Amino acid sequence: MSEEPAAGASQASPADLSADCPRCLKPQALCVCEGIAPIDNKVSLLILQHPQEQDRELGTARLTVLHLKDALLKIGLSWPSLTRILGRPADPQRWAILYLGSVKAAAVPPDRDTVVVNKKGTAVDHQDSALSDIEGVVVLDGTWSQAKALWWRNGWMLKCKRIVLGPKRPSRYGRLRREPRSDGLSTLEAAAMLLARLERKPEIETALHASFERLLARYRELHPHPGGRR
Ligand SMILES: [Zn+2]
Repeated sequence: MSEEPAAGASQASPADLSADCPRCLKPQALCVCEGIAPIDNKVSLLILQHPQEQDRELGTARLTVLHLKDALLKIGLSWPSLTRILGRPADPQRWAILYLGSVKAAAVPPDRDTVVVNKKGTAVDHQDSALSDIEGVVVLDGTWSQAKALWWRNGWMLKCKRIVLGPKRPSRYGRLRREPRSDGLSTLEAAAMLLARLERKPEIETALHASFERLLARYRELHPHPGGRR
């Protein structure tokens, strides 16, 4: 039940697979992965994707992982432990998860956009030290309700530190996507922001955003008249 689905379970049907890029699994017209030079990140990234998150065109999880040397994308609903997912010993208390629950507005002070919160949703004391000893981050990929399902099915996540993002600018998705995450960011933007802050390397965010902009530009070329949207 907790095992990962067979490879390809969440991917495109065999009929149109030949047209997809084998690395990012997007249609060739939307592939931006050529020339990506993976970044040597120090804080590990783990993206857990809900099996029903199948936005082949605008999904960003796989693209994010291609950008980083230490990043893993797993598709499924539940896993017994972080160690089992990673295949190496890992202490969830040294990892942080991008928190989905409600947070008091005051938890994100104006001078910060990345905050560690406690179980009550308030900012913990000594933010700098709370952020500095984080070994890896978990980002849930999917709509808000899909991410919530992952949260409730994986008890080990409760042991992780909780990070909340307060992005200063809205997602580059704009209105292209109907069901954004609760913080409104794409998985790529959220992961980029987290790693850039934790490692104090703004270039991580710059590199990932550049690819995301390219993806969106191609998407707009492919769908010049996106209609039927609320
Ligand atoms: Zn590609």
